Amino acid sequence: MTATTGLELGAGRVSVDDKAMINCRADVNQLLPLKYHWAWQKYLAGCNNHWMPTEVSMQADIALWQAPNGLTDDERRMLKRNLGFFATSESLVANNIVLAVYRHLTNPECRQYLLRQAFEEAVHTHTFQYICESLGLDEGELFNMYREVPSITDKAAWALKYTQHLEDPSFTTGTPERDQAFLRDLVAFYVVFEGMWFYTGFAQILSLGRRNKMIGIAEQYQYILRDESIHLNFGIDAINQIKIENPHLWGEDFQAEVRAMLTEGCELEIAYGRDTMPNGFLGLNSELCEQYMHFITNRRCAQIGLAPIFPAVENPFGWMSEMMDLKKEKNFFETRVIEYQSGGSLNWD
Ligand code: FE
Ligand code: MN
Repeated sequence: MTATTGLELGAGRVSVDDKAMINCRADVNQLLPLKYHWAWQKYLAGCNNHWMPTEVSMQADIALWQAPNGLTDDERRMLKRNLGFFATSESLVANNIVLAVYRHLTNPECRQYLLRQAFEEAVHTHTFQYICESLGLDEGELFNMYREVPSITDKAAWALKYTQHLEDPSFTTGTPERDQAFLRDLVAFYVVFEGMWFYTGFAQILSLGRRNKMIGIAEQYQYILRDESIHLNFGIDAINQIKIENPHLWGEDFQAEVRAMLTEGCELEIAYGRDTMPNGFLGLNSELCEQYMHFITNRRCAQIGLAPIFPAVENPFGWMSEMMDLKKEKNFFETRVIEYQSGGSLNWD
């Protein structure tokens, strides 16, 4: 039976071989037997990372934000535009998952992960609500930046064109053209949006945090970064699995198209870096962000099996990888994460 019709009494049992990423004809309600263990592992990893923004104290951030000489004008502009980008981006990503990806990814273990990811995007949006309220920011200004600030608008508009027609109830996969439209959406949101566009923003805030500024927001961004690195890796695995199952979709022309998408994504991000940091500040400026984005773009190409777009460059923000590996951090999340993990994996002895 197809993924969308009713129950078929007495139909044969689902075997692992019947499961497929897209256009699957096996029952989508049967999680077991698992076929894609990588998807299930990411679901478990996401659950073990559970956190809520309201657990992070904003006192130091509020004091610094309100102090007359707490932040420089450059830091304030960067912070506001950074928050303005993320405030609506988390919703754009969530809507793409729920309204487009979930419908067309016809595998129960992948959908189990998508349900978890959708909740994490809600937690992320909650974070920006909480920051906005704590600092007393102008909510109209923050939540309209994606329609009013060109470097943010350009990114949102670029991504929306890949999701809008997939959200149309009459859109279905099933022809090479439409399957490729779905693959393009996965590339746009998982590889470019979550895998490239979030990283300048993470570097900006975490570099402030390293200088002991806006440490509450920086802590929240570390949790978001940890979540997002799993979102990205889920997207990479999903794209690669679809390629394995449907090699006809990944021809030379299409690969060239994907490379062009990553190139455009990189250019949009470099423009955003210039717009948010026209002057730069300690340890961070738009030139370094450009180099970082070239490094990240090449890395994303490699992850989906494409040749690099830019000449080999070094990662100028080596410290970012430490930020991603939270287990190295002392005193970081020490109580809360352990409490959550004991709830997720009970140990009775
Ligand atoms: Fe997110
Ligand atoms: Mn995400």
